[in-house]
Amino acid sequence: MALSAARFHWQAVPFSHLAECTTAAVAIGSNLGDRGGHVVAALVALASLPRTDLIARSRVVETEALVLPGQPRGGAYLNAAAIVRTRLSARELLGQFQAIERGRGRDRASEPGRWLPRTLDLDLLLYGDGVINEPGLIVPHPRMHERRFVLGPLAEVAADWRIPGLNRTAADLLADLGGQA
Ligand code: AMP
Repeated sequence: MALSAARFHWQAVPFSHLAECTTAAVAIGSNLGDRGGHVVAALVALASLPRTDLIARSRVVETEALVLPGQPRGGAYLNAAAIVRTRLSARELLGQFQAIERGRGRDRASEPGRWLPRTLDLDLLLYGDGVINEPGLIVPHPRMHERRFVLGPLAEVAADWRIPGLNRTAADLLADLGGQA
């Protein structure tokens, strides 16, 4: 017997609503202006992202800015990490992060180099067990394993997360850094 179309209620569902939920880790940093305000605003914005829940956040720590040879050292950073559950793709998340940064006054176009003071920096550290290497998007974040200011907050909220490609947890990587700054 032919199935009657009338028995089904077809409805257009955006593909992203069907996407699986993924846990992602975010690094938050600020060393310009109202640093505490920027970090809190970032957490509020992350909690308000579409199809995303903020499920954990670390404490906020203060760390000295990295400096390139020949460049003046910027002011100290406030750093934190957050964990979200999201149906956004990694690329969509990064786009949302950059919009949040712009909302806090960050203008990448006027930044002539790396490691310069910034009102807000949001990095996508981890996206489930995903390994992504595309123009403008590398996950796990390529420098996270060498940065105490990233690993410290991350280990607080996701110590056992095994970093794809490294087979080490966030806590392991933090211990690997030993006494280094
Ligand atoms: P930064 O100035 O350190 O915030 O670097 C931002 C640049 O890194 C942007 O052009 C991003 O497209 C790129 N990028 C690549 N992978 C990532 C990632 N996992 N999280 C944040 N930015 C990334």
